[in-house]
Amino acid sequence: MLEASLQLTPTVNPPAPPDTFCSAPGCKANVPIELISEGLCVMHLTFHMEQACARLRSEIVKGTTSPERAAEIAGYIVGLSVELARIARGVRLPDDRKKRVLNTFLTLMIVRETLDRVMLGRASRRRLLSPELEGSL
Ligand SMILES: [Zn+2]
Repeated sequence: MLEASLQLTPTVNPPAPPDTFCSAPGCKANVPIELISEGLCVMHLTFHMEQACARLRSEIVKGTTSPERAAEIAGYIVGLSVELARIARGVRLPDDRKKRVLNTFLTLMIVRETLDRVMLGRASRRRLLSPELEGSL
């Protein structure tokens, strides 16, 4: 019965303006209408996301991230994930670009897991070093 209630109508994307090209140096790819505000093609958008993830992961594994910064990073990762999901839903992509999008999702998940693991590890070590604080919390 659930299947009968679903209406699977394909999303039709309006065509992007023909003269909108990626702003990345040397790239002549068209920018899909969903990425007009970013001015990037899907390939370069995912590339920029991957670079941001690499910087964040490097910052996280140093182990000096404050809880406030960790929350900020977690929110940023959620924002990138939502943006990527919106793009993946709205843009028709060739298989190699789909793989790129999926790899970027995987990278976002790994950064999030790394953040959780590092922050949980630090909280556990803090409890081990200061067991008297455990009862006061
Ligand atoms: Zn590009």
